[in-house]
Amino acid sequence: MRIFIDPGHGGHDPGAVYKNLKEKDLTLAIAKRISAQLYHHPKIVLSLSRSVDETVSLHQRVEKAHAFKADLFISIHINAGGGTGFESYRYLHTREKTKGYHERVHQSIIAELKVRDRGIKKGDFYVLRNTRMPAVLTESYFIDHPNDYAMLQKQQTINSIATAHVKGITSLLDKKTTPSSVICGSFKNRDKAEKRQALLKSHGFETTLTLMTMGMNRYYRVNVHSALTCAQVQARLRLLGLASFSVKNN
Ligand SMILES: [Zn+2]
Repeated sequence: MRIFIDPGHGGHDPGAVYKNLKEKDLTLAIAKRISAQLYHHPKIVLSLSRSVDETVSLHQRVEKAHAFKADLFISIHINAGGGTGFESYRYLHTREKTKGYHERVHQSIIAELKVRDRGIKKGDFYVLRNTRMPAVLTESYFIDHPNDYAMLQKQQTINSIATAHVKGITSLLDKKTTPSSVICGSFKNRDKAEKRQALLKSHGFETTLTLMTMGMNRYYRVNVHSALTCAQVQARLRLLGLASFSVKNN
């Protein structure tokens, strides 16, 4: 998997500034830690939009990611302007794949950082809008919040933000979802199967129908497709009161 890491800002653009901290320095430090942690990973090839304190335009960042043929673009930022915790973004209109990547990266980071979860959000950022591959933008901590500011001064925090991102990235490698990995209902009647599909669609799930034949019996099986793991999909279906089972083929 080819991962493009984009440390936000740099050079003439410091990003958010508070007291002695500049966003551009923090994002670069985090990106370098991520790079060091993933350098020897057998399944990941990494590239950075910048590895020093230099000015790189948003257009150049996107072009570099395209030239690198990245599978995932992650832009790293530090928040500012009132608040605390972590939030992340994808573009307003994205494919299901981006949504799945985004959710897994976000959840892995939250699990690691244990800060306030400000949510999985959508935003109209240049690098998200113009990248052709799935793209996610993360905002770790608030530079101008007293507690977050104190945290961001510590090397330990920079390391844990990097580790959180690494876990998010590597979570995309395990258990690639295969079609029919989660089954949510089998129906003799096609209308009923399609009703189930419509219900799942209204909750954001992508589904397909498979016609199964067993002896004289034919039935329609509803398959749920997602970039989430089977366990995560099943947990969500349970919240909707729907029984499901996973086919253990991954
Ligand atoms: Zn920023």
